[in-house]
Amino acid sequence: MDLEPIYAGEGQNVTPDDFRKHGRQVVDWIADYLENVEKYPVLSQVESGDIRRRLPASPPLHNEPFDKMLADVNEILLPGITHWQSPNFFAYYPSNNSGPSILGDLIASGLGIQGMLWSTSPACTELETLVLDWLVEAMGLPGSFRSTGAGGGVIQDSASSASLCALLAARERATGFQSNRTGIDRPLTAYASSQAHSSIEKAMMISGLGADNLRLIELDDQFRMRPDALQAAIESDLAAGKTPCFVCAAVGTTSTGAVDPLPEIGPICRKHGLWLHVDGAMAGTAAICPEFRTILQGLEWADSYCFNPHKWMLVNFDCDCFFVADRTSLIKTLSILPEYLKNKATESGAVIDYRDWQIPLGRRFRSLKLWFVLRYFGLDGLRSMVRYHVSLARQFASWVEASDDFEIAAPVVLNLVCFRHRGGDEVNQRIMDRLNQSGELYLTHTKLDGRLTLRMSIGQTNTELSHVQRAWDRIASAAHQGN
Ligand code: PLP
Repeated sequence: MDLEPIYAGEGQNVTPDDFRKHGRQVVDWIADYLENVEKYPVLSQVESGDIRRRLPASPPLHNEPFDKMLADVNEILLPGITHWQSPNFFAYYPSNNSGPSILGDLIASGLGIQGMLWSTSPACTELETLVLDWLVEAMGLPGSFRSTGAGGGVIQDSASSASLCALLAARERATGFQSNRTGIDRPLTAYASSQAHSSIEKAMMISGLGADNLRLIELDDQFRMRPDALQAAIESDLAAGKTPCFVCAAVGTTSTGAVDPLPEIGPICRKHGLWLHVDGAMAGTAAICPEFRTILQGLEWADSYCFNPHKWMLVNFDCDCFFVADRTSLIKTLSILPEYLKNKATESGAVIDYRDWQIPLGRRFRSLKLWFVLRYFGLDGLRSMVRYHVSLARQFASWVEASDDFEIAAPVVLNLVCFRHRGGDEVNQRIMDRLNQSGELYLTHTKLDGRLTLRMSIGQTNTELSHVQRAWDRIASAAHQGN
């Protein structure tokens, strides 16, 4: 063995050979899991406290064999897993995954670097900048988001963090970059549609703007933000002496997948000097296909944009791509340089230090898994995945439309179908509970116009027509079962 012991004590050293042996076991374990994932109930069926009760109350004093740990994963933890990687997972929005992504992430763990500064691992920063520039090209995003101009991209953990960073930059820009120093000295307001994700309200809470200063703008009949209502809300706040500073438009709202009209929202923001952030968390991936890029029409008005490869682009959680058109405002908002982080590369001004583009200091090497996915599948592979999921959603919607019992509840834009039984909320709730308890598939709901609505969200890597067909059969038969 050519490594020094990591821990003193008999049997506690991890030799390279031990690591190889257990590493192979784990890779086999993951391959077996993914191969057999359909065997498990999609929604975990355990009761609260079941998992904890089966585990020791205190940590082990002495080392335990690795095989025992893996056995406990199988026997104790697996029953408490909801299987997001099951092709029968149709809940929320997907968090899909792929072999190259898992392996890229494993290499990132093996390297164990922390990429807060360019100098703490130049490859971490430079690969991230490159891969995000690749995506600008691959998805037809505005050229202003490229790092070679005034903008650039950064990987955040989640869309929530991206929106918070955007809101903070908006706050700073609107206050002449003073509120970071002296606190907010004027009443700032922000705007999003009443269907915006709750992370926008949370960002208002965290940023100090206050959730009550978020105006929830009314919708049109397709659940999209109404630009005339946005304009009116801004004007009313201006008349009341407030300072409007931020608009979040959604490209693919969480409830229905509605796309807010950027070509009309953009000019309103520009006219009043508001920061426009576009949240494309799930739907944004579709822009990899030229024919779906209409969803991003008007994105050139945006100051910032984010989408999550960890939702629908085969990259395992976590990976949110956040782009800004003017990186200076973001960096001015989030930069702080204590003595212990000073270094020559930073002082030269020639490098990106991504710690200045996010809330935490430390950061993982997330671009590695994204890079692996882009290279392994190529744009063609990702495009065919997106097209397939969209066509499955359209197929599912056609079955709903042809049914006497169910109706479509919102326009089907991409891979989400909102639908409901005509019998009302109780019937829909009963259908959903019955299906989820069966373990055969997992569906979740939303409320539209006050009515409980089921969501069929199609985006797991291995979902095929047979899964969607079976889901529809189960839904239809659950509707026919009595109370
Ligand atoms: N924005 C939208 C439109 C979403 O649909 C979601 C989650 O589904 C989020 C934001 C939150 O995503 P994250 O978990 O990456 O913060």
